Amino acid sequence: MIIRGGIVYDPANGIYGEEMDLFIEGGRIAEEAAGPELDASGLLVMPGGVDAHSHIAGTKVNTGRIMRPDDSRMGTEPRNPVCRPCTGYTVPNCYAIGYRYARMGYTTAFEAATPIINARHTHEELEEIPILDKGALTLFGSNWTVLECVRDKDLAKLAAYVAWGLRASRGYGVKIVNPGGGEAWGFGANVKGLYDTVPNFDVTPAEIIESLAKANEMLGLPHSIHLHFNNLGKPGNYTTAIETLDLLKGVQASRMRQVVHIAHMQFSAYGGTGWKDFESKGPAIADYFNRHSHATMDLGMVLFGPATTMTADGPLEYANSRLLHAKWANCDYELEDSSGVVPLVYGRKMPINAIQWAIGLELALMTKDPWKVIMTTDHPNGAPFVNYPEVIALLMSRPKREEEIATVHELVKSRTALPTLEREMDWTDIAVMTRAGPARILGLEDKGHLGKGADGDVAVYNLRPDEIDPSRDHALVKAALAKARYTIKGGTLVARDGEILSAPPGRTYWVDAGVAEADANRLMADLKDKFDRYYSIQISNYMVQDAYISHPNVIRAGLQVREGEDRSSHALAREA
Ligand SMILES: [Zn+2]
Repeated sequence: MIIRGGIVYDPANGIYGEEMDLFIEGGRIAEEAAGPELDASGLLVMPGGVDAHSHIAGTKVNTGRIMRPDDSRMGTEPRNPVCRPCTGYTVPNCYAIGYRYARMGYTTAFEAATPIINARHTHEELEEIPILDKGALTLFGSNWTVLECVRDKDLAKLAAYVAWGLRASRGYGVKIVNPGGGEAWGFGANVKGLYDTVPNFDVTPAEIIESLAKANEMLGLPHSIHLHFNNLGKPGNYTTAIETLDLLKGVQASRMRQVVHIAHMQFSAYGGTGWKDFESKGPAIADYFNRHSHATMDLGMVLFGPATTMTADGPLEYANSRLLHAKWANCDYELEDSSGVVPLVYGRKMPINAIQWAIGLELALMTKDPWKVIMTTDHPNGAPFVNYPEVIALLMSRPKREEEIATVHELVKSRTALPTLEREMDWTDIAVMTRAGPARILGLEDKGHLGKGADGDVAVYNLRPDEIDPSRDHALVKAALAKARYTIKGGTLVARDGEILSAPPGRTYWVDAGVAEADANRLMADLKDKFDRYYSIQISNYMVQDAYISHPNVIRAGLQVREGEDRSSHALAREA
């Protein structure tokens, strides 16, 4: 395929709005190619979008669907010969997830939290999501074996367990949610901060986080630890955020990337002593990220309208349901973690919601380096992912922000810095936040850029960067980003002007990390005992088998890489 004459933004390769032709051969970007030509003359061209944190598959998502029969009516779409039926808005069905991302020019999305014991279900749903390449992050933050290894200060065994857990779940990276809180929640309690003791294990969240970060780097995983802070969603929690970030300053990254990625930062950038004096600490958090380079974050942007909150932070969801008098689902996953689901509506005249909305924008606009702060709504916690074009229009246009500020609760003016912010993002910032940045943060070397050998994932938008002014023409920007002129996935044209033309299956990334045999043997003896005594299922029925993943993309890490392959030559070359 040849894509002619587009204005290309490929910041990972130092291309900032150059007119050029792109060639795709064998599904990858090439120096030349023969085949069908697409006319992109003068139009905005970027790599396919990458979402590094979205809840798109697994039991939480399905529980959300069950709890919200009303939601299905909000998202029904007319069918075409290619598409299967689509339903749902905040928790769309699998087909709608694939088509809607593709329609916006996205080609990759990662599920942000799966317990190992439920990973088979997660993969069954990921398999049903058309078009997208996918992966799933595996929960480790309240897992008994993790807590024991941390208590015993046995990092080698912890690394062996992480490697085994990733293989068992066919997972891509280490997700930590309210570390220790999931275990405490089994007793109706929570951990209150970094140095509170987890019941029965005599360890603290600080020890869990630091140990998992070190184990992550011992294994040389492509992604860093991916952390949902303790005290998330509570007034005054920005101090916990900064304390935790400070804790990780000393950990050495094994690759050229962050040591920790912070999930949905907006929910942990809160000041105040309670909901009455609740205020933004977005500026303090952005300032911290401007002064440090060991951490990255995604926004977790809140937008007004319906959402379905779902998280492994079980006690948080209980608190949400009490506060809002809302429906509530709760789960305790045997030895592994907890979770909860609460549907809600964010209102623009609600003081807390309006301040939350402003904090997401502050974080993006006040963090100077867009490589440190990537786009998410923590779908569907802050808003459904189909609202990314609205967020981008807000980031690119101060007049649009002023229009919105005039319609939201007036406390945004006194309790946030948003009205004073003049910055308007440009297309390079947006290309970093929505593709190059998430790909680099996840360690996906063939995604998020258009260099030779990269995946042939390209988005062409009905916008002429040379003619439009996003500050003034924000409505055009929003409309064009919602329906890409062309979305190309692996060299196949999958969407045109919002219409799905074909729906090839995507690949699933997972990480196979090798560890020393002695550590693996120690671990397995312990696990066999745990399964015999405590788990409700046998170890042989626990692992996700290869048959569950029809198009795997296995990334090797750990010992097997250190002894042989050069795991990061491509990343290093680009960095240089
Ligand atoms: Zn999330």
